[in-house]
Amino acid sequence: MMSATLDLAPLRAAVRDVPDFPKPGILFKDITPILADGALFKRAIDAFVESVRPLEIAKVVGIDARGFLFGAAVAYALGVGFVPVRKKGKLPYSCQSAAYTLEYGEAVVEMHSDALQRGERVVLIDDLLATGGTAAAAVKLIGQMGAELVLALFLIELEFLHGRRNLPETAVRVLLTF
Ligand code: AMP
Repeated sequence: MMSATLDLAPLRAAVRDVPDFPKPGILFKDITPILADGALFKRAIDAFVESVRPLEIAKVVGIDARGFLFGAAVAYALGVGFVPVRKKGKLPYSCQSAAYTLEYGEAVVEMHSDALQRGERVVLIDDLLATGGTAAAAVKLIGQMGAELVLALFLIELEFLHGRRNLPETAVRVLLTF
């Protein structure tokens, strides 16, 4: 667990386990109870902001879809821009894209081709690090744009899936590990 000043135990307690969603054998970590509770949502955002503020980043990059909820709030708190990474076909303007492997087949994520400037310091935010495939594709996009990934930040890490192996080791931080 990662916070210098905030007690994260109430956040951990609020994560709801939903067995066999979206398919048999998956234990889904549902963060909507955190979103629905004003004090918990604030605590989660405050913990994210505490990690990011000293890094003097220029933009928050959030991953479709729950990364938008946390990432946008962090960007607002820091007064910096927010950039969405979305599944292929959702963004209207010209895009950079990166493919990644799923259990069956491949998926593609996209970012608008003018969303990041060369050399810009960015933090990547999502709710949960599982296999790391999605985040690794987002990291690839950030690299393709010539921006600098300063930190990849997650509310939850499923440690047994070793998603960190797919990400730059020094640049990962999580608030809750399961
Ligand atoms: P991955 O690419 O395997 O790291 O998957 C990460 C993405 O899938 C994140 O955007 C998560 O929101 C979602 N995800 C994967 N596994 C779970 C899980 N067990 N519970 C909740 N969300 C999950």
